[in-house]
Amino acid sequence: MRVKSSVIILVIMILLISSHVPIRADASAAGSKSLARATGQKVICIDAGHQSKGNNAKEPISPGSRTVKPKVSSGTQGVATGKPEYKLTLEVALKLEKVLQNDYKVVMLRRSNNVDISNSERATRCNQAGADLALRLHADGNDNRSIQGMSFLYPSADSPSTKKIAPQSLEITKVLSKAVLKETQATSRGLIPRSDLTGFNWSKVPVLLIEMGFMTNREEDLKLSQAAYQDKIVLGIKKGLDSYYKVKK
Ligand SMILES: [Zn+2]
Repeated sequence: MRVKSSVIILVIMILLISSHVPIRADASAAGSKSLARATGQKVICIDAGHQSKGNNAKEPISPGSRTVKPKVSSGTQGVATGKPEYKLTLEVALKLEKVLQNDYKVVMLRRSNNVDISNSERATRCNQAGADLALRLHADGNDNRSIQGMSFLYPSADSPSTKKIAPQSLEITKVLSKAVLKETQATSRGLIPRSDLTGFNWSKVPVLLIEMGFMTNREEDLKLSQAAYQDKIVLGIKKGLDSYYKVKK
């Protein structure tokens, strides 16, 4: 009986091994990305700034604050294209999603312009998604139409509500801004700490905001709506993230 059962066990083991070997070979050949996914891709929460209708109801600028600001504004508008900021930010956000989705877990805060999500809610949703980074896409406007260039905003270390997330946010902003500026060749208006942004103050995860350019500058407005230029922006963001998170190619 002992001999028989050990033979049976041996046969079962051989069957198990022979049936598993090809599966394993398949997995290592075809599925390094799905393996990476299983072992923890970084979660990037993409917030396309604004929405078709602003919401002027007020909300606290930070948790527990008595200072209030409108929930969400409708943003600026292109002087040459006539395009509202909320449309531009969604165009870029959707392209960014496509470029990132193989190597990151992407959370989109909106895929439509017809939404009503306040700035504090946007931050809260990225928190709840367990994001490694909340990435806010915006475009600038100014009465002086000669002003152009990209700005990179990050939460101030002086603000009590963002003290914890400020250092890592700045580190990511440094790496990402360098990559985006290299790819786009845009004029840099620098890295700017902010303590007055609701979307930063409610965030519990590292966060940064890219002002991709001035829609009130004719030349830059036209450029921001070009597919090729938008591709450069999203490629720059991808390269920056890959470099910061050391995503292997
Ligand atoms: Zn904006």
